[in-house]
Amino acid sequence: MSESKTPFTPISTIGEFKLIDRIAEGIECVHSSTIKGIGDDAAVIHTPLHQVITTDLLIEGIHFDLMYTPLKHLGYKAVVVNLSDVFAMNAQPKQILVSLALSNRFSVEAVDELYEGIKAACKKYNVDLIGGDTTASPKGLTICITAIGEAKKEKIVYRNSAKEGDLLVVSGDLGAAYIGLQLLEREKQIFIENPNVKTDLKGHDYTVGRQLKPEARMDIIELLEKFNILPTSMIDISDGLSSEILHICQQSNVGCVLHEEYVPIDPNTYNTALTFNIDPINCALSGGEDYELLFTIRPEDASKIKNHPDLSIIGEIIDANLGVKLHSKGDNYYDLISMGWDNLDADK
Ligand code: ADP
Ligand code: MG
Repeated sequence: MSESKTPFTPISTIGEFKLIDRIAEGIECVHSSTIKGIGDDAAVIHTPLHQVITTDLLIEGIHFDLMYTPLKHLGYKAVVVNLSDVFAMNAQPKQILVSLALSNRFSVEAVDELYEGIKAACKKYNVDLIGGDTTASPKGLTICITAIGEAKKEKIVYRNSAKEGDLLVVSGDLGAAYIGLQLLEREKQIFIENPNVKTDLKGHDYTVGRQLKPEARMDIIELLEKFNILPTSMIDISDGLSSEILHICQQSNVGCVLHEEYVPIDPNTYNTALTFNIDPINCALSGGEDYELLFTIRPEDASKIKNHPDLSIIGEIIDANLGVKLHSKGDNYYDLISMGWDNLDADK
């Protein structure tokens, strides 16, 4: 949370076309399906496979806060959250389009920094940046990213195909990004009250990192392929475990039992949640922004993933008439509800 020392070149001094040239500099498309990238009226793609297309809109002040989000991280995260949706269809992302609306608060250097993150994510996840749009805005920064992926028709996994008897599996651990956000918001308030107080996020690298620089679980898609497991349904966790389980159950017309004791929560997330007076399970259920994968598998596939450190079996799919339940550590059954993260704070 310090004032940036980098120079400030107004975008108006170079103009939109020069800015786009600058963005396009050094971009090489690696996929054979990318016939034409940046530079014409439209990009051109050719593929014999099914195309999976998703888009996300990020608005300053709603989805991100530049007081504690470095632009490079923002660019990286904006790409990652889109790719996560493509992986959640069991598809491989290949191309992205990036559109920006920029107020005069943003310099050429700021756009450079944003694209450093965007390009780093493209490199890491092997996707081509094939175009976008750039416009002025009266206020703030808006980023719209569209991701295009591909998969064989029979490999695409939807939300509406979970079956009774399937097991519910989640990757990684949950709730960390929400705790990271609480820490950043707390430091922001301290900074607003007294800019001379040093920020103290020591020991919180994991949770803050999960908030500022999440990764999409490409590795899990590869793992499932290696284990020869085709999930029966899948979704990525952007809004909290509860709401994603409810999406799968509603769309598949099934019920579910989620066992609290098996929900993976990192010790740092757990302990920090307690210091905020938040029940750690609520961070996992309603925190959101974890970008882990939640999926269902046939019970006969369970032995292939048992004891895998990145995968936890957390529940079972049951008959729709039995509802969607949380089986608590205290051996009680509650209806699983989708609270949304706004209601999480214990002391608000
Ligand atoms: P048009 O006026 O036909 O919309 P533009 O001048 O907006 O064309 O864009 C020229 C090229 O630059 C197109 O290939 C477009 O996809 C690409 N482009 C424009 N803005 C961006 C951006 N922010 N990021 C990546 N590519 C962009
Ligand atoms: Mg345009």
